[in-house]
This record gives sequence, C-alpha cells and structure tokens, in this order.
Amino acid sequence: MDDRRGRCALKRKVQLAVIGGGPAGLAAAVAAREKGIDDILVLERDMRLGGILNQCIHNGFGLHTFREELTGPEYAQRYIEMIHRHQIPCLLNTMVTDLHYHADGTKTITAMNRKEGILSIEAKALVLAMGCRERPRGAMNTPGFRPAGIYTAGTAQLYVNIMGQMPGRKAVIVGSGDIGLIMARRMTLEGAKVQMVAEIMNYSGGLKRNIIQCLQDFDIPLLLSTTVVDIKGKERVEGVTLARVDERLKPIPGTEQEVECDTVLYSTGLIPENELTRKLGAGMDPSTGGPVVSRGLEIKGMGVFACGNVLHVHDIVDHVTQEACHAGENAAEWIRYGSLPEDAGGFIESAEKNVYRPGEAEDRITCIRCPNGCGMTASREKDGSILVSGNLCPKGKDYAIQELTDPHRTVTSTVRIESREVAALPVKTSREVAKGRIPDIIRAISGIRVKPPVRVGDVILKDAAGTGADILSTGTILL
Ligand SMILES: Cc1cc2nc3c(=O)[nH]c(=O)nc-3n(C[C@H](O)[C@H](O)[C@H](O)COP(=O)(O)OP(=O)(O)OC[C@H]3O[C@@H](n4cnc5c(N)ncnc54)[C@H](O)[C@@H]3O)c2cc1C
Repeated sequence: MDDRRGRCALKRKVQLAVIGGGPAGLAAAVAAREKGIDDILVLERDMRLGGILNQCIHNGFGLHTFREELTGPEYAQRYIEMIHRHQIPCLLNTMVTDLHYHADGTKTITAMNRKEGILSIEAKALVLAMGCRERPRGAMNTPGFRPAGIYTAGTAQLYVNIMGQMPGRKAVIVGSGDIGLIMARRMTLEGAKVQMVAEIMNYSGGLKRNIIQCLQDFDIPLLLSTTVVDIKGKERVEGVTLARVDERLKPIPGTEQEVECDTVLYSTGLIPENELTRKLGAGMDPSTGGPVVSRGLEIKGMGVFACGNVLHVHDIVDHVTQEACHAGENAAEWIRYGSLPEDAGGFIESAEKNVYRPGEAEDRITCIRCPNGCGMTASREKDGSILVSGNLCPKGKDYAIQELTDPHRTVTSTVRIESREVAALPVKTSREVAKGRIPDIIRAISGIRVKPPVRVGDVILKDAAGTGADILSTGTILL
C-alpha cells in the first residue's frame, strides 16, 4: 500500500493485533498470550500504555480484580508489568487510521507513527479496544459565544493530573457523571472554587460514593433538575446562566440565576470511539453506541473482537478487564480453530449503578472496604451505640461506624516532576487520614518536586503534616 505521496508503507504481518493500549487492550493481549498466541502487537496512539487510567489518579479501582483499592495509574501499571513480563510488543505513539476487512478473512490495519511513517499491518484476528470519548459542549446545544474556559471534564482532568496546569479558578460543572464529580473535588483540592454542579435530571448519574466524597466532603452544591442556558463572556468565560427544568427537561422561564465563573466543565456522557469499527462494515447497536457482537464478543464471524468502552461504556474498570480477558481468549481460540466454542465467555453487563437520588446519601453509606459495596444504614441509638444494617461482613460495620463518627479518606493528588513525558506525578497517602486533615496534606505536598526515575510505591514524603501517613508515588515515570 502506498501513501498519497507514493511512499511505500512498511508492511508487517501478525497473528493478533490489538488496537488501544488501555486496560481493555492490555488485558486482551495478556489473555491471548496466556492462551498460547505468540505473535501479538498492541497499537497505542498515546506515548504510554494505560489509557484513560493514567489520568484517573483517584482511588476506587481494582476491588474485584486485585481485591485491593488502587488508583487508576496503579491499576494500569499492574497490566503494563504483565505486558512486559510476557514480552508483548507494543507500538506507542502509533495512530491507527484505517481498517479493512478482505474477502479471504484477513484484516489490514493502516497506522502511522513518526519513526516508521505509514505502517500496513496484516492481522489474522483483531481486538478493538479504542475506549470512548466525552460528549462535547457542541452536542449540548448551549447558546453563547465560544470563549476560552470551556472544557470537557476529562480534558480538564488531563490538564491538572498529567500536565500540571489548572484550567481556571472558579468553575461550574455541568452534568453530575462521575468524571464531573471527581473533577469537582480535584479542582477544589488544587485551590479552585467550584461554585456548583448542575444536573439536568432529577437524580445524579454519578456513584453515591462520589456524591459524598467529592461534593459533600467539600460543601459543593449539587443542583438537580437544573441546566445551563447561557454562557457569558467573549474572550474568556465570565459566568453562566442556570435555569430549573420541567419534567420534559425544558428550562422554566423565570427560574434563571446568574453564576460567576471563569471555567465551565462539561461532564455529560461518554461515546464509544467507533469510527474505525464502522470502516470494517460492522453493524452498530444504537442502545450502546458500540458494534453489534455475538455472545463471544465477535463482530459477525469476522475474527474481530471488541471489548471495554469501545463496546459499551463501563463504570468499573474491573468489568472492562473481565470482558477484555474473554475477548483475548476468544481471539486466541479463533486464530487456532477459525471459530468459537458455543460456551465462549463474553459480554459483561454493567452492574446496576448505585446512583444518587435526593435524600438518600444522607443516611445511606456505601461500603468501599470490599467488592460487595454494601449499601448500609447507620443510626445513633438513644444509649449512644450505633446500629448498622445492610452490611454483609464485619468490615462493613466498622466502615459505617467510622463514616458516621470520624470519616477518614485516602488523599490522592499530584506533585511536580521534572520529566520529559509529563509535568505531574500522581501520589496518595499510605493510609486514610481524618477528613479534616486533607488540606494539611495538600499544603505539605504543594512544593515538592520529584526527579525521575520514580516507581509505584516509592515514598515521596514521610509522615505528611504529622498525620503518620507517608506520601507514596502511584505512577512509574522513568524519563
Ligand atoms: C474520569 C474517569 C473516572 C473513572 N473512575 C473509575 C473508578 O473510580 N473506578 C473504576 O473502576 N473505573 C473508573 N472509570 C472507568 C474505567 O477507567 C474505564 O472504564 C476504563 O479505563 C476503560 O478502558 P478501555 O481500555 O476500554 O478504554 P481507555 O482506557 O480509554 O483506552 C483506550 C485506548 O485506546 C487508544 N486508542 C483509541 N483510538 C486509537 C487509535 N485509533 N489508534 C491507536 N490507539 C487508539 C487510546 O489512546 C487509549 O489509550 C473511570 C473512567 C473515567 C473516564
């Protein structure tokens, strides 16, 4: 194949190509290798593996897969190490731009990177693991000019957690999905004032746990049945107009309120990234936004498998991993036998989401001590004792009592790093600290500069702010 200037593309042949080096792609590649496939290639457009997890520096990942609560970069690092252990080749900084399915069943991938130029890779089987992207402001039809200061929450997360840059100082967050809630806390910890989170529905799509730990912990108001009807400012955002909505989600005249801010973050949903999938001629499922697949995650007998957020948006990375393992195993089976057994594992339904409805978060406590995630009620009795119900194990009871009497949190943040790759190194406290000490921890780490190499688990600061908790690196940065 030649590019448009007539240059010949570098040709390669592999048994299995995996597009996307996020948690889905990595787990699929590892599973296929463990099923005996030697010739695997992972293609990733970013400069490092790990996908969206690299910017998700908060904890809450891995309770199912590793029976531990990890941050996003820690979770990713475990799979990156497996990739290295299995010596699976990965092409980084490599963008896949085209896919073609041939009548004889082979697939051709067109990709490009700065080192090798255009690559043409022929693969016997394919795993699609390109993740998803955020719904932008344009999709929300918000009137107003296009001033600076409007971002999707995930873009703001990238600025703060990887590039070490603050997108603004006074923010309104539109949409109460988990990314928006997490960014409300993150911006607050970095010194910004988050005015409120405005949600058009009469409930929040975010996890209850995030409502409590990201909004209530920091006194950030959540306005339900509220939307943004105008963004003010020509060069830079100067404020927004919010309005209440009726049951048809239409703004109610006369309920407008002006809110001053220099930043608007949109957290209004994720869309599976399927431009490449469409090029294969795959049918799309309008309910998930992903391709139509068989129970074994295969697109209509093509030897092309899809998993992770490209297939449907997952809330929990553990489900992504589980699904991707099936995709990798099934791809291995397909390479060997040209078809799948009837009992091939596959699609992982998202667990019903533990969403927040007003009045619930105040007395309901969701345990984070183990994967059961019990929804518990805790109340103080007349004799001063605390009655806990809804817990499946004693850990739940201990957690509920502590939440009611003296809540503790693991603090996650970033410190500066002198690296060619990134400006911020993710860190966390070695154990939970009293909620009231969070600002002290943030102050204690604010001036720290780290020189690479640094690995997950390295101690960055001992006994931060006299809390007894050390500050540990949750990222591995070698350059
Ligand atoms: C802000 C946020 C917070 C979250 N919080 C939690 C949490 O607390 N707990 C939890 O369990 N889960 C959480 N999740 C969910 C979980 O992180 C995701 O479901 C999971 O990371 C999805 O994995 P993936 O591999 O499908 O996609 P991604 O991680 O997005 O990986 C896709 C990869 O494909 C690459 N790619 C895409 N297109 C191409 C192309 N054309 N060529 C080459 N490479 C390409 C991308 O660069 C990317 O690296 C969160 C997600 C987000 C966004």
